[in-house]
Amino acid sequence: MINIYYQLAGLVLTIMITILFASKTKLLFDTDRAFSYLLMNILCALTLDVIAVNAMALYENAMIGKNIAQVLCKLFLISIVSVGYLTMKYTEIAIGREQGTRAFWGHANIIPLFVFAAAALFFDVRVKTLEHTGELYCSGSYTVLAYVVLIVYLALCVIIILRNRRCMERRYFVSAITFALLILGAAILTLCWPALKNVSFTMALGLLSMYLEMENPDSYVEKVSSALNNYAFQRWGEKLLSNHEAVKAFVIWISGLDVIKKKVGVMEYSEMLTELTQQIIKLHIGKVFRLDSGEFVFVVKASEDEDSVYRELKAIVEHVAQKYVVLNADYVKYGLIPSLDGYEDMMTLYQELRFFLTHLQSLSGDVLHIMNEEALNVKNEEDFTMLSLKKAIADEQILVYYQPIYSTARQRFTTAEALIRIKDLNGRFMSPEVFIPIAEQRGYILTLGHAVFESVCRFVREQNLEQRGFDYVEINLSTVQCMQQGLASELVSIMKKYSISPGFINLEITETAAIQSENTLMKNMQRLIQLGVSFSLDDYGSGYSNLDYVIRMPFHLVKLDKLLVWSSFENQKTKVLLETSVEMFRKMHLKIVAEGVETQAQALYLEDIGVDYLQGYFFSKPVPEEAFVQIVANNTRRNLNRI
Ligand code: C2E
Ligand code: CA
Ligand code: CA
Repeated sequence: MINIYYQLAGLVLTIMITILFASKTKLLFDTDRAFSYLLMNILCALTLDVIAVNAMALYENAMIGKNIAQVLCKLFLISIVSVGYLTMKYTEIAIGREQGTRAFWGHANIIPLFVFAAAALFFDVRVKTLEHTGELYCSGSYTVLAYVVLIVYLALCVIIILRNRRCMERRYFVSAITFALLILGAAILTLCWPALKNVSFTMALGLLSMYLEMENPDSYVEKVSSALNNYAFQRWGEKLLSNHEAVKAFVIWISGLDVIKKKVGVMEYSEMLTELTQQIIKLHIGKVFRLDSGEFVFVVKASEDEDSVYRELKAIVEHVAQKYVVLNADYVKYGLIPSLDGYEDMMTLYQELRFFLTHLQSLSGDVLHIMNEEALNVKNEEDFTMLSLKKAIADEQILVYYQPIYSTARQRFTTAEALIRIKDLNGRFMSPEVFIPIAEQRGYILTLGHAVFESVCRFVREQNLEQRGFDYVEINLSTVQCMQQGLASELVSIMKKYSISPGFINLEITETAAIQSENTLMKNMQRLIQLGVSFSLDDYGSGYSNLDYVIRMPFHLVKLDKLLVWSSFENQKTKVLLETSVEMFRKMHLKIVAEGVETQAQALYLEDIGVDYLQGYFFSKPVPEEAFVQIVANNTRRNLNRI
């Protein structure tokens, strides 16, 4: 007669928990791993329990030999004791690696389990029959020993959990103490009444309570790609740093994912990213996180060979790119953080990682870029600007916007200023006021100047602006450009390339540029003026002004700086300066442009005092080519009162 209802119920419960756990969790934390060992152990214990009870019955009926029944019973008892050991391990981890190990004597914990298993060679399990029901149960000194060792393990756990409760997250405290107390109680009862046989069932119950206390692993998974999310990365990183685990991280950066999403739709986009994640997970060597749109981090043990992992990752990306043609494997960059150890906290690690990711975007080639000192030196904003600039140059993304300029005499737009526009690595426009000085310092301004000049010439030619009521386009020259002896030749050759008549070009030069490169600039100016190019003195009235230059240098036009315009509305003295300047320039036969005209009142006033051209948001902000083409098309005569 056998009664295994409890064991069967326990087994069903444990199998259910196993399925739930396996389908959900990604073994993110040590506690999850400890839990999974416990789960397997209890699954074994319950299975062995069922088998052992049957074996005892068969042995009683002389259907199997004694040895088989003995081995199965002993295995069952060992598996029960082993639960005690694993509960200790779980608790140790829940307390926190360092503190936990100190509380539990580290690896020595396993000694009682070993001794107990070894003792199996010297003891026999006695099988007893319950008198009135005829049920069979294990008994004898080996069985008693099993429960004693289990009780010792669990009692120690309870004591240590209570003493270390402050080091434990509440969730872990609750799950560990509930589990230990439940099984401790069951073990004591079984020790007193061996026929109770409820230990393994209680273990299943304990497991259930532990599972319910666990964090929902879904909150760690990012829905689109099914990789672990940014939150998981932060949480997991904290554990990792406190445990000083030796790991390294591969970074995969995919550019233009947002464009792909728009092209193929969310479903296929998600499918593609999930495929990528799954393929990497299938390498079975690490965890995959997706921090942001195109940012994947693959964390592996430090012992993994970086070249072979890199090759495998590349092969996966190429495979996915083949399947989803919208993904271009050439736009994927690979980086390596050689060691995550040594970071004080997750904040520092995350900041450096973010920085590395940004840096990675600007690097070229599909080699494995290493996050080393050199890569991290580029930390401040200036470097970010520089990186953005370099990338824009490499990708030929130097844009030019146009701001139309109104002629008070002809009452419509007759010229425009070309203004450079560059996006940073995050896709936001940077202010030229910020990046122009940096480009000047770091030797990139000539490239930018060339690109702007060429872009303007191309645009003028494509749109045939010369024939559409515009007199010229104003282009800014930087100080460094003005110092170049070959400037005139360079500009001439670009104008020739696009067949632009030099008369359609007006170059704006600031006073600073004029002062710093007087001789070279003069030569360049003379040559260009001979061809028909005209020049403006930019930013007149900003800061220190030396009229000497205006008089000596061959300018055709003076641009009143926007600050001068604005403050003349607030300050009587500045107003006098403005009006006197206008009067003086008119007498010198210089044309005058006022910048920063934002209101109708300003426009009317400036027209009134004799300013020839007005430029500012009141008329239009600088706009991209397409919008400017519209402005050219609708460029009718309009009185200032009707704008
Ligand atoms: P800038 O030569 O004085 O150019 C005029 C600036 O005033 C432009 O700023 C323009 O957007 C802005 N602006 C025009 N109207 C108004 C207005 O009504 N209100 C306000 N608040 N602002 C107005 P942006 O485009 O930011 O350019 C800043 C400076 O960067 C320029 O000052 C120029 O010195 C330099 N820059 C721009 N493009 C180039 C270029 O292609 N080459 C060089 N070397 N420098 C450039
Ligand atoms: Ca200007
Ligand atoms: Ca200006």
